[in-house]
Amino acid sequence: MAIEVELHKLREWMWKYSLGRDGGNNSDHFLRIKIPGGIISPDRLRGVAELSDKYGRGYAEITTRQDIQLHWIEAEDALEIFAEMEKLGFTTDLCSQAFAETCHGDVRNAVCCPLSGKKGYDAYWLVREITDFFSGNPDYVSLPHKFKIGISTCESNCIREEAQDLAMQWNGEGFVPLVGGGLGASKPGVRKAKSLRIVVYEEDAFDFIRTVIDIYKDFRAERKAEARFKNFFETAGCEWLRREIELRMGVKFDLADDFNCNPPSEHTEGLQDDGSNYYTLPVFAGILDSERLSFIAEVAEEFDGGIRLTPWQNVVFTDIDDLKALKERLSEQFDLSAPRMHIACASNFCGKTLVHAKDVLRHIPASDRFVGVSGCSNACACHPLAEIGLCGKVKAGKQLYDVFIHGWKEAENLSVEEAVELIKKHLGDGYGAKAD
Ligand code: SF4
Repeated sequence: MAIEVELHKLREWMWKYSLGRDGGNNSDHFLRIKIPGGIISPDRLRGVAELSDKYGRGYAEITTRQDIQLHWIEAEDALEIFAEMEKLGFTTDLCSQAFAETCHGDVRNAVCCPLSGKKGYDAYWLVREITDFFSGNPDYVSLPHKFKIGISTCESNCIREEAQDLAMQWNGEGFVPLVGGGLGASKPGVRKAKSLRIVVYEEDAFDFIRTVIDIYKDFRAERKAEARFKNFFETAGCEWLRREIELRMGVKFDLADDFNCNPPSEHTEGLQDDGSNYYTLPVFAGILDSERLSFIAEVAEEFDGGIRLTPWQNVVFTDIDDLKALKERLSEQFDLSAPRMHIACASNFCGKTLVHAKDVLRHIPASDRFVGVSGCSNACACHPLAEIGLCGKVKAGKQLYDVFIHGWKEAENLSVEEAVELIKKHLGDGYGAKAD
């Protein structure tokens, strides 16, 4: 149901804030808080915990785009929440279904490798430029569809470059752009982002991104489902897009070698470039609550460390001297042996399906493999990229799953039990190594 507020009040917030519409779990609206590149200070994390306590029944979840999402948000609290968020310096994705007047074709939370600048190249300057320019910019809130940007600076492909509308992969000299990714079933179907085979140097990187989006702004599709960037790219093609960007920017890009994306994986633990340590805390399906959000903030302060959310719904602690002590402290509230690469969407709230993806994940044996469970073919948990992917559906009132192995459909219309048996068989004896 659309929220009714006076339009002049809404305009104050409409380009920066929105509530999305939920359809399950007795939740009407969600609030998706952008955390650019996943970096958040302990103080601001406590701020999220307070918002969650006050407005969202104390529940919170980390999304696959490094946001934090709250549910059970009441429409009448929206303006008060937005005012509190403004004070904390947060904005939201414009999931505008809750407001009849608002826009929805915005640039979503820019994702970035959580180790950027701690291990290897620091690309957070680009994340900041993207966020500062596009968030709340009225010229960029009515794109044909939402637009997803990822900045990749490691060899783990932890941001899942293939799934981005535009991924900028650092190659040591500049960024190699990959474009047109989208894993959902909407036209033209599952597409992995393709390399434009050029190098964009640092000084041109932001202008390059803005130019791609400016070109996309002119795209017209008959239906919203056909307006995604992947469909635009499908019709425009690699060569045309590259030439058009060069024409508009007045530059000629150097050519990059062709390459394939590495299989996506999560960081675990190890040494940073400065000799201190990082540690990735596994968070089952990204599910948290206000108490554990506050606990994470408290531990980061105790250890004088940084906090970065990951596209795998986990939390990285950076700049840690005593890794052993950190783990002991974290184990007071978390199961450190939980898998780090099992991800699931919020289908229990989303309402597109009756399938409960996060619950299904509980039945799948722990492993160090990439397991993605999406509630439907929109593929919010990137199941087509996973080693083991599940896509839920409801047929004749039954909850069923198609099972994909490395993107190929292995079986369809299985019950949870049948799907789990198939997965165990695939994992072999011992069901695959447990995450360390
Ligand atoms: S994959 Fe489908 S069910 Fe899951 S969050 Fe996305 S749209 Fe909702």
